[in-house]
Amino acid sequence: MALIVQKYGGTSVGSTDKIKAVARRVIECQKQGNQMVVVLSAMAGETDRLTAMANDIQKIPNLREMDMLLSTGEQVTIALFAMAVKEAGSDAISLLGDQVRIRTDRMHTRARIRDIDTTLLKKHLDAGRIVTVAGFQGVDDDGDITTLGRGGSDTTAVALAAALGADACEIFTDVEGVYTTDPNICSQARKIDHISYDEMLELASLGAKVLDIRSVGLAKRYNVPVHVRSTFSDNEGTWVVEEDRIMESMLVSGITYNRNEARITIKKVPDQPGIAAKIFLPISDAGILVDMIIQNTRDSHLTDMTFTVMRNDYARAMEIVKKVAEEIGAESVTGDESIVKVSIVGVGMRNHSGIASTMFQILAKEGINMMMVSTSEIKVSCIISEKYTELAVRALHDAFALDKDNVPLEEE
Ligand code: ASP
Ligand code: MG
Repeated sequence: MALIVQKYGGTSVGSTDKIKAVARRVIECQKQGNQMVVVLSAMAGETDRLTAMANDIQKIPNLREMDMLLSTGEQVTIALFAMAVKEAGSDAISLLGDQVRIRTDRMHTRARIRDIDTTLLKKHLDAGRIVTVAGFQGVDDDGDITTLGRGGSDTTAVALAAALGADACEIFTDVEGVYTTDPNICSQARKIDHISYDEMLELASLGAKVLDIRSVGLAKRYNVPVHVRSTFSDNEGTWVVEEDRIMESMLVSGITYNRNEARITIKKVPDQPGIAAKIFLPISDAGILVDMIIQNTRDSHLTDMTFTVMRNDYARAMEIVKKVAEEIGAESVTGDESIVKVSIVGVGMRNHSGIASTMFQILAKEGINMMMVSTSEIKVSCIISEKYTELAVRALHDAFALDKDNVPLEEE
Protein backbone atom coordinates (compact mmCIF):
# COMPACT_ATOMS: atom_id res chain seq x y z
CA MET A 1 0.00 0.00 0.00
CA ALA A 2 1.38 3.37 -0.96
CA LEU A 3 0.96 6.62 0.93
CA ILE A 4 0.32 9.57 -1.33
CA VAL A 5 0.06 13.23 -0.47
CA GLN A 6 -1.88 15.24 -3.03
CA LYS A 7 -2.23 19.00 -3.15
CA TYR A 8 -4.87 20.83 -5.16
CA GLY A 9 -4.47 24.54 -5.90
CA GLY A 10 -7.06 27.29 -5.82
CA THR A 11 -8.35 26.87 -9.38
CA SER A 12 -8.80 23.12 -8.77
CA VAL A 13 -11.13 23.80 -5.84
CA GLY A 14 -12.62 27.05 -7.17
CA SER A 15 -16.26 25.94 -6.94
CA THR A 16 -18.33 23.26 -5.19
CA ASP A 17 -18.55 21.35 -8.48
CA LYS A 18 -14.79 21.35 -8.76
CA ILE A 19 -14.46 20.22 -5.14
CA LYS A 20 -16.81 17.33 -5.89
CA ALA A 21 -14.68 16.40 -8.89
CA VAL A 22 -11.53 16.45 -6.76
CA ALA A 23 -13.25 14.25 -4.19
CA ARG A 24 -14.09 11.69 -6.91
CA ARG A 25 -10.53 11.72 -8.12
CA VAL A 26 -9.08 11.23 -4.63
CA ILE A 27 -11.50 8.40 -3.84
CA GLU A 28 -10.51 6.72 -7.11
CA CYS A 29 -6.88 6.90 -6.09
CA GLN A 30 -7.70 5.50 -2.65
CA LYS A 31 -9.61 2.63 -4.22
CA GLN A 32 -6.47 1.66 -6.09
CA GLY A 33 -5.06 0.79 -2.69
CA ASN A 34 -3.44 4.01 -1.54
CA GLN A 35 -3.58 5.93 1.71
CA MET A 36 -4.46 9.52 0.88
CA VAL A 37 -3.54 12.83 2.47
CA VAL A 38 -5.01 15.81 0.62
CA VAL A 39 -3.76 19.36 1.09
CA LEU A 40 -5.99 22.09 -0.29
CA SER A 41 -5.56 25.76 -1.11
CA ALA A 42 -8.28 28.32 -0.61
CA MET A 43 -10.71 28.78 -3.50
CA ALA A 44 -9.18 30.77 -6.35
CA GLY A 45 -9.17 34.48 -5.50
CA GLU A 46 -10.13 33.96 -1.86
CA THR A 47 -6.75 34.80 -0.31
CA ASP A 48 -6.66 37.97 -2.43
CA ARG A 49 -10.17 38.86 -1.33
CA LEU A 50 -9.28 38.43 2.35
CA THR A 51 -6.09 40.45 1.91
CA ALA A 52 -8.00 43.29 0.26
CA MET A 53 -10.49 43.42 3.15
CA ALA A 54 -7.65 43.60 5.66
CA ASN A 55 -6.01 46.41 3.71
CA ASP A 56 -9.31 48.25 3.68
CA ILE A 57 -9.28 48.40 7.45
CA GLN A 58 -5.61 48.66 8.35
CA LYS A 59 -3.06 50.04 5.89
CA ILE A 60 -0.44 47.82 7.41
CA PRO A 61 -2.45 44.97 8.89
CA ASN A 62 -1.48 43.40 12.17
CA LEU A 63 0.36 40.26 11.18
CA ARG A 64 -1.05 37.98 13.83
CA GLU A 65 -4.59 38.90 12.84
CA MET A 66 -3.67 38.66 9.18
CA ASP A 67 -2.78 35.00 9.71
CA MET A 68 -5.98 34.47 11.66
CA LEU A 69 -7.83 35.88 8.64
CA LEU A 70 -5.92 34.25 5.78
CA SER A 71 -6.05 30.80 7.32
CA THR A 72 -9.84 30.80 6.99
CA GLY A 73 -9.71 30.35 3.19
CA GLU A 74 -8.28 26.87 3.50
CA GLN A 75 -10.63 25.95 6.35
CA VAL A 76 -13.54 26.40 3.95
CA THR A 77 -12.18 24.15 1.20
CA ILE A 78 -11.09 21.27 3.45
CA ALA A 79 -14.46 21.19 5.19
CA LEU A 80 -16.36 21.19 1.88
CA PHE A 81 -14.02 18.58 0.48
CA ALA A 82 -14.51 16.27 3.49
CA MET A 83 -18.27 16.62 3.00
CA ALA A 84 -17.94 15.82 -0.70
CA VAL A 85 -15.96 12.67 0.08
CA LYS A 86 -18.53 11.50 2.62
CA GLU A 87 -21.35 12.29 0.22
CA ALA A 88 -19.61 10.12 -2.39
CA GLY A 89 -19.58 7.24 0.07
CA SER A 90 -16.05 7.30 1.46
CA ASP A 91 -14.77 8.53 4.82
CA ALA A 92 -12.76 11.69 5.34
CA ILE A 93 -11.70 14.10 8.05
CA SER A 94 -10.51 17.68 7.69
CA LEU A 95 -7.75 19.03 9.91
CA LEU A 96 -6.34 22.51 10.41
CA GLY A 97 -2.62 23.10 10.79
CA ASP A 98 -2.84 23.40 14.57
CA GLN A 99 -4.96 20.26 14.86
CA VAL A 100 -2.34 18.24 13.02
CA ARG A 101 0.36 20.13 14.92
CA ILE A 102 2.30 21.60 12.08
CA ARG A 103 4.63 23.61 14.26
CA THR A 104 6.24 26.73 12.82
CA ASP A 105 8.36 29.62 14.02
CA ARG A 106 6.66 32.87 15.05
CA MET A 107 7.17 34.78 11.79
CA HIS A 108 3.57 35.64 10.98
CA THR A 109 2.66 35.62 7.25
CA ARG A 110 5.97 34.02 6.34
CA ALA A 111 6.47 31.31 8.92
CA ARG A 112 8.69 28.30 8.41
CA ILE A 113 7.70 24.80 9.40
CA ARG A 114 9.78 23.38 12.26
CA ASP A 115 8.26 19.94 12.65
CA ILE A 116 5.10 17.98 12.10
CA ASP A 117 3.46 15.57 14.50
CA THR A 118 2.23 12.62 12.45
CA THR A 119 0.40 10.76 15.25
CA LEU A 120 -3.09 12.01 14.51
CA LEU A 121 -2.61 11.78 10.74
CA LYS A 122 -1.52 8.16 11.01
CA LYS A 123 -4.41 7.29 13.30
CA HIS A 124 -6.95 8.55 10.77
CA LEU A 125 -5.12 7.00 7.81
CA ASP A 126 -5.01 3.65 9.54
CA ALA A 127 -8.75 3.92 10.09
CA GLY A 128 -9.11 4.16 6.31
CA ARG A 129 -9.98 7.85 6.18
CA ILE A 130 -8.94 10.32 3.57
CA VAL A 131 -7.24 13.02 5.60
CA THR A 132 -7.49 16.54 4.26
CA VAL A 133 -5.21 19.20 5.69
CA ALA A 134 -5.46 22.98 5.32
CA GLY A 135 -2.62 24.29 3.18
CA PHE A 136 -0.17 27.03 4.10
CA GLN A 137 -0.87 27.18 7.82
CA GLY A 138 0.65 26.05 11.08
CA VAL A 139 0.82 26.95 14.72
CA ASP A 140 3.59 28.58 16.74
CA ASP A 141 4.75 27.92 20.30
CA ASP A 142 2.20 30.40 21.66
CA GLY A 143 -0.61 28.47 19.99
CA ASP A 144 -1.12 31.28 17.46
CA ILE A 145 -2.04 30.45 13.88
CA THR A 146 0.71 31.20 11.38
CA THR A 147 0.80 31.11 7.58
CA LEU A 148 3.71 30.22 5.35
CA GLY A 149 3.44 33.03 2.79
CA ARG A 150 1.59 33.16 -0.52
CA GLY A 151 1.73 29.91 -2.43
CA GLY A 152 2.73 28.08 0.75
CA SER A 153 0.35 25.15 0.32
CA ASP A 154 2.88 23.38 -1.86
CA THR A 155 5.31 23.53 1.03
CA THR A 156 2.67 22.10 3.38
CA ALA A 157 2.20 19.17 1.00
CA VAL A 158 5.90 18.45 0.61
CA ALA A 159 6.51 18.83 4.36
CA LEU A 160 3.68 16.38 5.14
CA ALA A 161 5.05 13.94 2.56
CA ALA A 162 8.51 14.21 4.15
CA ALA A 163 7.20 13.76 7.69
CA LEU A 164 5.04 10.78 6.74
CA GLY A 165 7.67 9.22 4.49
CA ALA A 166 5.10 9.29 1.67
CA ASP A 167 5.81 7.52 -1.60
CA ALA A 168 4.98 10.61 -3.62
CA CYS A 169 3.75 14.15 -3.35
CA GLU A 170 1.46 15.12 -6.19
CA ILE A 171 0.85 18.80 -6.88
CA PHE A 172 -2.31 19.29 -8.92
CA THR A 173 -2.70 22.53 -10.78
CA ASP A 174 -4.20 24.00 -13.96
CA VAL A 175 -1.27 23.26 -16.28
CA GLU A 176 0.10 19.93 -17.51
CA GLY A 177 3.53 20.21 -15.94
CA VAL A 178 6.86 21.97 -16.36
CA TYR A 179 7.81 22.85 -19.91
CA THR A 180 11.18 23.01 -21.64
CA THR A 181 10.58 26.71 -22.09
CA ASP A 182 7.76 29.23 -21.98
CA PRO A 183 5.09 27.94 -24.43
CA ASN A 184 3.86 31.52 -24.82
CA ILE A 185 6.97 32.51 -26.73
CA CYS A 186 8.02 29.15 -28.19
CA SER A 187 5.35 26.92 -29.66
CA GLN A 188 7.80 24.01 -29.73
CA ALA A 189 7.96 23.91 -25.93
CA ARG A 190 7.43 20.39 -24.64
CA LYS A 191 6.36 19.02 -21.28
CA ILE A 192 9.31 17.60 -19.33
CA ASP A 193 8.78 14.07 -17.99
CA HIS A 194 11.52 13.98 -15.38
CA ILE A 195 13.68 16.73 -13.97
CA SER A 196 16.09 16.87 -11.04
CA TYR A 197 15.58 19.04 -7.98
CA ASP A 198 18.57 21.21 -8.88
CA GLU A 199 17.35 21.79 -12.43
CA MET A 200 13.91 22.64 -11.12
CA LEU A 201 15.41 25.19 -8.75
CA GLU A 202 17.27 26.80 -11.66
CA LEU A 203 14.18 26.70 -13.86
CA ALA A 204 12.16 28.39 -11.14
CA SER A 205 10.57 30.85 -13.52
CA LEU A 206 9.30 28.09 -15.82
CA GLY A 207 7.97 26.14 -12.87
CA ALA A 208 6.57 29.18 -11.16
CA LYS A 209 3.05 28.51 -12.40
CA VAL A 210 3.12 24.90 -11.34
CA LEU A 211 4.75 24.84 -7.98
CA ASP A 212 6.08 27.16 -5.38
CA ILE A 213 9.84 27.02 -5.62
CA ARG A 214 10.35 27.05 -1.83
CA SER A 215 8.87 23.57 -1.70
CA VAL A 216 11.51 22.21 -4.09
CA GLY A 217 14.38 22.83 -1.69
CA LEU A 218 12.45 20.96 0.98
CA ALA A 219 11.66 18.09 -1.41
CA LYS A 220 15.33 17.85 -2.27
CA ARG A 221 16.41 17.80 1.36
CA TYR A 222 14.04 14.99 2.26
CA ASN A 223 14.17 13.29 -1.11
CA VAL A 224 10.42 13.51 -1.73
CA PRO A 225 9.45 12.64 -5.32
CA VAL A 226 7.18 15.45 -6.51
CA HIS A 227 4.76 14.99 -9.38
CA VAL A 228 3.32 18.22 -10.78
CA ARG A 229 0.31 17.59 -12.99
CA SER A 230 -3.05 18.83 -14.16
CA THR A 231 -6.27 18.49 -12.19
CA PHE A 232 -8.21 18.55 -15.41
CA SER A 233 -6.62 15.58 -17.16
CA ASP A 234 -5.27 12.11 -16.36
CA ASN A 235 -1.99 12.74 -18.16
CA GLU A 236 1.28 12.24 -16.36
CA GLY A 237 2.84 15.59 -15.55
CA THR A 238 6.44 16.33 -14.61
CA TRP A 239 8.29 14.31 -11.96
CA VAL A 240 10.80 16.28 -9.91
CA VAL A 241 13.16 13.71 -8.47
CA GLU A 242 16.69 12.93 -7.37
CA GLU A 243 19.24 13.23 -10.16
CA ASP A 244 20.24 9.56 -9.94
CA ARG A 245 16.72 8.47 -10.71
CA ILE A 246 16.71 10.09 -14.11
CA MET A 247 17.86 7.47 -16.55
CA GLU A 248 18.31 9.64 -19.57
CA SER A 249 19.94 12.92 -18.68
CA MET A 250 19.63 15.70 -21.17
CA LEU A 251 22.48 18.02 -21.93
CA VAL A 252 20.05 20.88 -21.65
CA SER A 253 16.71 20.36 -19.91
CA GLY A 254 15.19 23.78 -20.20
CA ILE A 255 15.61 27.36 -21.27
CA THR A 256 14.49 30.27 -19.15
CA TYR A 257 14.52 33.98 -19.56
CA ASN A 258 14.11 36.80 -17.12
CA ARG A 259 13.13 40.25 -18.24
CA ASN A 260 13.30 41.63 -14.74
CA GLU A 261 16.93 42.66 -15.17
CA ALA A 262 18.82 45.91 -15.56
CA ARG A 263 22.53 46.52 -16.07
CA ILE A 264 24.73 49.09 -14.38
CA THR A 265 28.34 49.74 -15.40
CA ILE A 266 30.87 51.83 -13.52
CA LYS A 267 33.76 52.79 -15.76
CA LYS A 268 37.37 53.24 -14.69
CA VAL A 269 37.12 52.36 -11.06
CA PRO A 270 40.41 52.50 -9.10
CA ASP A 271 41.57 48.88 -8.89
CA GLN A 272 42.31 48.55 -5.17
CA PRO A 273 41.26 46.29 -2.32
CA GLY A 274 38.05 47.49 -0.68
CA ILE A 275 36.56 49.20 -3.70
CA ALA A 276 34.02 46.48 -4.48
CA ALA A 277 32.89 46.51 -0.87
CA LYS A 278 32.47 50.30 -1.05
CA ILE A 279 30.23 49.91 -4.10
CA PHE A 280 28.14 46.95 -3.06
CA LEU A 281 27.68 47.61 0.64
CA PRO A 282 25.34 50.61 0.23
CA ILE A 283 23.43 48.67 -2.43
CA SER A 284 22.81 45.71 -0.17
CA ASP A 285 22.08 48.05 2.75
CA ALA A 286 19.26 49.45 0.62
CA GLY A 287 17.88 45.92 0.30
CA ILE A 288 18.72 45.70 -3.39
CA LEU A 289 19.67 42.28 -4.72
CA VAL A 290 22.60 42.09 -7.11
CA ASP A 291 22.63 39.19 -9.54
CA MET A 292 25.58 38.97 -11.94
CA ILE A 293 28.80 40.86 -11.27
CA ILE A 294 31.65 41.24 -13.72
CA GLN A 295 34.92 42.98 -13.05
CA ASN A 296 37.45 43.33 -15.84
CA THR A 297 41.16 43.08 -15.40
CA ARG A 298 43.11 45.84 -17.04
CA ASP A 299 46.76 46.64 -17.20
CA SER A 300 46.31 50.04 -15.67
CA HIS A 301 45.19 50.57 -12.11
CA LEU A 302 41.68 51.06 -13.30
CA THR A 303 38.91 48.56 -13.86
CA ASP A 304 35.31 48.44 -15.13
CA MET A 305 32.61 46.99 -12.95
CA THR A 306 29.32 45.75 -14.40
CA PHE A 307 26.44 44.15 -12.54
CA THR A 308 22.72 43.52 -12.80
CA VAL A 309 19.84 44.29 -10.47
CA MET A 310 16.10 43.74 -10.73
CA ARG A 311 14.50 46.28 -13.02
CA ASN A 312 12.28 47.78 -10.36
CA ASP A 313 15.37 48.48 -8.24
CA TYR A 314 17.22 50.10 -11.13
CA ALA A 315 16.45 53.75 -10.40
CA ARG A 316 17.30 53.40 -6.73
CA ALA A 317 20.47 51.45 -7.47
CA MET A 318 21.55 54.05 -10.04
CA GLU A 319 21.19 56.84 -7.52
CA ILE A 320 23.33 55.01 -4.97
CA VAL A 321 25.97 53.98 -7.49
CA LYS A 322 26.36 57.49 -8.91
CA LYS A 323 27.06 58.79 -5.43
CA VAL A 324 29.61 56.08 -4.68
CA ALA A 325 31.25 56.48 -8.10
CA GLU A 326 31.92 60.11 -7.33
CA GLU A 327 33.33 59.30 -3.90
CA ILE A 328 35.77 56.71 -5.24
CA GLY A 329 36.73 58.78 -8.26
CA ALA A 330 35.35 56.50 -10.98
CA GLU A 331 34.98 57.96 -14.46
CA SER A 332 31.31 57.41 -15.25
CA VAL A 333 28.21 55.30 -14.68
CA THR A 334 26.03 53.91 -17.45
CA GLY A 335 23.04 51.61 -17.43
CA ASP A 336 20.56 49.72 -19.54
CA GLU A 337 17.06 48.72 -18.58
CA SER A 338 16.12 46.85 -21.73
CA ILE A 339 18.07 43.68 -21.21
CA VAL A 340 17.05 40.09 -20.61
CA LYS A 341 18.82 37.13 -19.05
CA VAL A 342 18.51 33.95 -21.07
CA SER A 343 19.70 30.74 -19.41
CA ILE A 344 20.15 27.16 -20.46
CA VAL A 345 19.91 24.62 -17.64
CA GLY A 346 20.81 20.95 -17.50
CA VAL A 347 22.60 18.52 -15.18
CA GLY A 348 24.17 16.97 -18.28
CA MET A 349 26.49 19.98 -18.40
CA ARG A 350 28.33 18.71 -15.36
CA ASN A 351 30.21 16.16 -17.42
CA HIS A 352 30.25 17.82 -20.78
CA SER A 353 32.42 20.67 -21.93
CA GLY A 354 31.54 23.00 -24.74
CA ILE A 355 27.92 23.64 -23.88
CA ALA A 356 28.60 27.32 -23.26
CA SER A 357 30.45 27.73 -26.53
CA THR A 358 27.61 25.97 -28.37
CA MET A 359 25.25 28.50 -26.83
CA PHE A 360 27.50 31.37 -27.93
CA GLN A 361 27.60 30.01 -31.48
CA ILE A 362 23.83 29.72 -31.67
CA LEU A 363 23.37 33.30 -30.49
CA ALA A 364 26.07 34.53 -32.85
CA LYS A 365 24.39 32.83 -35.79
CA GLU A 366 21.29 34.87 -35.06
CA GLY A 367 23.37 38.03 -34.84
CA ILE A 368 22.64 38.43 -31.14
CA ASN A 369 25.30 40.20 -29.09
CA MET A 370 26.04 38.99 -25.57
CA MET A 371 26.72 41.65 -22.98
CA MET A 372 27.45 39.46 -19.98
CA VAL A 373 27.87 35.76 -19.31
CA SER A 374 27.82 33.76 -16.13
CA THR A 375 28.03 30.04 -15.58
CA SER A 376 27.37 27.57 -12.82
CA GLU A 377 27.72 23.81 -12.76
CA ILE A 378 24.38 23.25 -14.44
CA LYS A 379 23.57 26.62 -16.00
CA VAL A 380 24.86 29.15 -18.52
CA SER A 381 23.26 32.59 -18.50
CA CYS A 382 23.70 35.37 -21.04
CA ILE A 383 22.57 38.95 -20.85
CA ILE A 384 21.33 40.16 -24.23
CA SER A 385 19.20 42.97 -25.54
CA GLU A 386 15.57 42.45 -24.55
CA LYS A 387 14.31 42.75 -28.10
CA TYR A 388 15.99 39.44 -28.96
CA THR A 389 14.28 37.42 -26.20
CA GLU A 390 11.97 35.38 -28.42
CA LEU A 391 14.56 34.86 -31.11
CA ALA A 392 17.19 33.67 -28.63
CA VAL A 393 14.86 31.32 -26.78
CA ARG A 394 13.54 29.75 -30.00
CA ALA A 395 16.98 29.36 -31.54
CA LEU A 396 18.40 27.72 -28.39
CA HIS A 397 15.36 25.48 -27.99
CA ASP A 398 15.77 24.34 -31.55
CA ALA A 399 19.54 23.90 -31.51
CA PHE A 400 19.53 21.86 -28.30
CA ALA A 401 16.69 19.73 -29.74
CA LEU A 402 14.39 20.31 -26.80
CA ASP A 403 11.36 19.76 -29.01
CA LYS A 404 12.41 16.13 -29.46
CA ASP A 405 11.29 13.48 -27.02
CA ASN A 406 14.05 12.07 -24.83
CA VAL A 407 17.23 12.89 -26.66
CA PRO A 408 19.70 11.33 -24.24
CA LEU A 409 23.29 12.41 -23.81
CA GLU A 410 25.54 11.11 -26.53
CA GLU A 411 27.85 8.43 -25.22
CA GLU A 412 31.46 9.46 -25.03
N1 ASP B 1 -4.14 30.28 -0.45
C1 ASP B 1 -2.78 30.72 -0.34
C2 ASP B 1 -2.44 31.62 -1.52
O1 ASP B 1 -3.27 31.89 -2.36
C3 ASP B 1 -1.83 29.57 -0.22
C4 ASP B 1 -1.74 28.67 -1.44
O2 ASP B 1 -2.71 28.55 -2.15
O3 ASP B 1 -0.71 28.03 -1.64
O4 ASP B 1 -1.35 32.09 -1.60
MG1 MG C 1 0.14 27.81 -5.95
